[in-house]
Amino acid sequence: YKNNIIRTQSNKLLEEKNKELIIAKEKVEKASNARSEFLSTVSHELRTPLNAINGITHLLLEENPKKSQMQYLESLQYSGNYLTKFINDILEINKIDSSKIQIEHINFNLKQLVENIQSSLKELAVENDNSFNFNIDCEIPNYLIGDPTKLSQILMNLINNALKFTHDGEVTVTTKLVSVRDKKAFVYFEVKDNGIGIPEDKFESVFDSFSQGSIDINRKYGGTGLGLTIVRKLVRLLGGKINLESKVNEGSTFSFELPFKISKRVQDTDKKETT
Ligand code: ADP
Repeated sequence: YKNNIIRTQSNKLLEEKNKELIIAKEKVEKASNARSEFLSTVSHELRTPLNAINGITHLLLEENPKKSQMQYLESLQYSGNYLTKFINDILEINKIDSSKIQIEHINFNLKQLVENIQSSLKELAVENDNSFNFNIDCEIPNYLIGDPTKLSQILMNLINNALKFTHDGEVTVTTKLVSVRDKKAFVYFEVKDNGIGIPEDKFESVFDSFSQGSIDINRKYGGTGLGLTIVRKLVRLLGGKINLESKVNEGSTFSFELPFKISKRVQDTDKKETT
């Protein structure tokens, strides 16, 4: 009888604790939703006047301004672009964190995607006197099903950084088929540079929001400190894990592996075309 009373009392206690936990969870969720809504509203409100500032600056720059005015306008253009990128990055992180982002499952050609990135970043490579190499594994099936927009975003961010933090060096992007299992292709991606490198004690923090290598690096290279935060979140969202290997003054390698479904429909079409 005594045991029964103790059991009932402890069950009641457990039930109460469970209720408290549910209420606390709801409160956290509400607060997080409010934060996300606030961030989204503020960012959108900022974007509208900023677009006007950027547009007018662009127009004035095209009007052949005097040399002295040119300097001010260029500085305005730089700040406008920086703020735009900052706001877009904040909106992107907010979207991922509040699970408002959808993963797409569409047919795409990985080789084509990589080639598009290569041509869009060619100029940046030339600016910094870097050689820009791509190793694309021919074994990778021509058509995969996945989220090409997010994959591009990840690669663009990593390659942009590699080109930015390397001067007169080499940036190499590698894609490799790791395995094919359960109608899925597991593809390895690597962005390797021989630039300034990252100290080992910063390997974790570079992925944190607003984190930059050092004040000197921030001053010299600019940037928002949000790029790698977005990269890590997106890689996780697509089912992978980002790795970093680096040595100061020797270079950095960012790598990750992602699963993609193999598009059967297009594979069949390919087969028909070749026979
Ligand atoms: P940022 O906008 O500052 O580039 P990121 O989140 O993309 O922000 O990167 C955070 C920091 O990580 C950078 O400020 C830089 O110090 C370091 N970093 C990122 N990529 C590289 C790289 N390829 N080589 C050296 N340092 C890097």
